[in-house]
Amino acid sequence: MLVMKFGGTSLGNAQRIRTTCGLVKKAVEREADVLVVVSAHGGVTDMLIKAAQSALGGDALSGLSALETRHREIVEELGLDMALLADELRELGTLLNGVSMLRELSDRTLDLVQSFGERMSSKVVAALLRQEAQLTAEAIPSYDLGLLTDNRFGEATVKPESAARIAADVARRAGTLLVTTGFLAKSPAGDITTLGRGGSDYTAAIFGAALGAREIQIWTDVDGVMSADPSVIPQARPIARLTFAEASEVAYYGGRVLHPMTMVPAVKNNIPIRVLNTTNPDHPGTLLSAQTQDPTGAVKSIVYKENITLLDVTSNRMLMQAGFMSWLFKILHKHEIVIGMISTSEVTVSLTTDNPKNLPAVVEEIEASGFARARVSGGKAITCVVGSGMRSQRGLAAKVFSAIAEAKVNIQLISQGASEINIAVLVNNEDIEPTVRALHETFFESE
Ligand code: ADP
Ligand code: ASP
Ligand code: MG
Repeated sequence: MLVMKFGGTSLGNAQRIRTTCGLVKKAVEREADVLVVVSAHGGVTDMLIKAAQSALGGDALSGLSALETRHREIVEELGLDMALLADELRELGTLLNGVSMLRELSDRTLDLVQSFGERMSSKVVAALLRQEAQLTAEAIPSYDLGLLTDNRFGEATVKPESAARIAADVARRAGTLLVTTGFLAKSPAGDITTLGRGGSDYTAAIFGAALGAREIQIWTDVDGVMSADPSVIPQARPIARLTFAEASEVAYYGGRVLHPMTMVPAVKNNIPIRVLNTTNPDHPGTLLSAQTQDPTGAVKSIVYKENITLLDVTSNRMLMQAGFMSWLFKILHKHEIVIGMISTSEVTVSLTTDNPKNLPAVVEEIEASGFARARVSGGKAITCVVGSGMRSQRGLAAKVFSAIAEAKVNIQLISQGASEINIAVLVNNEDIEPTVRALHETFFESE
């Protein structure tokens, strides 16, 4: 079994969708079983969110018509019929009308609105595979193939029983080339949920793991995972191989290229992931696998994650007392705060999160205790140097810090994991570019 995931960029226009279908056809000719996971056409999820917000403001129509136009252009250029998407567009129209009449947009409704992107793109891809590649392809939403989550709308957690359900549901459809939706799932109550932005990578990994795939392919618009974000550093170059541990750091801190959860099912089931370029399909891309660490000691990639929030908890009485951390973590757990970096000093615990929604409640509870104070500051970014060979390189941390100092960027938090395969620093959002540039020059462009 081969799982092929195509991102929004690979499905952004008619020509790219044709290329995508060509790649699927080639794979089907070589491989007994292929499962295709798709994202929405590029930009569509953003359009859906905007349409929902406009509907909330009373305008249910303009968003819908923009989405219709975007899909019509693609469908007609592919020689398909808009009747293919009639049900989805009608249902979306009704939903947006509801939002505008009620002036109410819950997280649950927003997930339902966003689901139309992948539901429509999967139908388009399956129809083209039938029409042009003569394959018996069928679009089927991931939630009808067993993918089950809790009901944390916007960033739902996958339920472990999904794996067995997926294996059974896919086996039942043997002989059909399934084109399923990335990003989407359902809660036990039957509500559509989403896995967080960029979640289709994660979907591909979940399906790959559940089906015991020999490989999970993530098809995107660059030649694999690169030494830095190519949109910030044009000199960035593709990395041939990453260990699972390195790839996990890149996914977690790497912003867009892989959803942060992607590596979890792959590592657990030891399934290699290959990141490939739809616009340059002959390039070998990046192989993420369980290989033992690379002996060269090289830094592999400089990655960053923006819009991080910093929480500083200060207590001059309690911090060094037994039980303080446990008390703090209980509060964070209760409010479902996922911690990124953490660092402690004599009187302060500083930690970061990328989802600050529940932080006001955390602050309130900390302050109410009377023995600690909490301060929240947003607009931060984690920049991270990743490479499993780093642990054997003396002086590497010094190189990182002096490069950043020379770029005149102020570091607000530092963390080096026990595994020593990454050094992460917290800077302001506006310092991402100079920080990444300085680090890339130091580790990839000198000599
Ligand atoms: P897709 O639509 O295929 O899911 P995304 O836009 O989500 O594509 O992710 C691919 C993009 O991630 C690339 O176009 C690139 O600009 C960006 N990116 C950021 N960091 C990296 C990196 N280290 N390596 C490769 N791409 C990166
Ligand atoms: N379409 C979703 C998004 O734009 C999921 C994905 O592309 O992976 O976030
Ligand atoms: Mg993506």
